[in-house]
Amino acid sequence: EEHMMNREKLSIAGQLAAGIAHEIRNPITAIKGFIQLMNSGVKEKKLYFDIISSEVERIESILSELLLLAKPQNAVFSRHDIALLLEQVVTLLDSQAIMSNVMIVTDFDPCSVVVSCDENQLKQVWINFIKNAIEAMPGGGKVAVKLRKPDNGRIVICITDEGCGIPQTLLDKLGQPFYTTKEKGTGLGFMVSRRIIENHKGTLEVRSQVGLGTTIEVNLPVEPSLGSGHL
Ligand code: ADP
Ligand code: MG
Repeated sequence: EEHMMNREKLSIAGQLAAGIAHEIRNPITAIKGFIQLMNSGVKEKKLYFDIISSEVERIESILSELLLLAKPQNAVFSRHDIALLLEQVVTLLDSQAIMSNVMIVTDFDPCSVVVSCDENQLKQVWINFIKNAIEAMPGGGKVAVKLRKPDNGRIVICITDEGCGIPQTLLDKLGQPFYTTKEKGTGLGFMVSRRIIENHKGTLEVRSQVGLGTTIEVNLPVEPSLGSGHL
């Protein structure tokens, strides 16, 4: 494909811009087409309305994830209990989990860890990873959310699912803008999350086995501003 050949030459910003233009042009082209159809006097308009509103929703979700990507630069750091943030996100996602037959299990030790972070951005990270975990198990299963604090000024959060897993060959594509295997995916969640973690001077590791599941391990400094020599 022509796009692929040009890809290497483009800067990250250029790649993203090209991706955004492409991803947003598709739903807009569809919307335009259906508006024309409706204008031509067809009777059954309900279906067209539905398609148009689902395409508008798609544009909205792409834009809201992109806005998050633009925000890390203005991160507001203050002290928050990571266990509490995780607990809040689990509560938020519980109804979605139950509908998919998924049980979210938490294991926090210690049960409270105060970290300097941007609360909303880190919440977004947990939402993205836990949602991905739920979505990886269409037949249901368990998501384990684990919090640990080794004695090195850092904390470790693991999100483990029993889902489809990610083939080795596709691990590299994780976090590439607009890479998604889902019909309604944006392919932005992972990239945005990684960017936020980097902005918190943290690291991200993905371990996955096809058919068995995936673990996302996030390692964060308790006090990112102190720069404990991990960069
Ligand atoms: P989206 O969820 O909108 O597809 P993401 O950036 O969050 O976008 O994820 C990109 C892709 O990575 C997903 O479409 C999926 O193929 C894969 N992926 C991410 N997390 C998992 C997971 N826990 N298990 C299996 N595949 C995953
Ligand atoms: Mg996602």
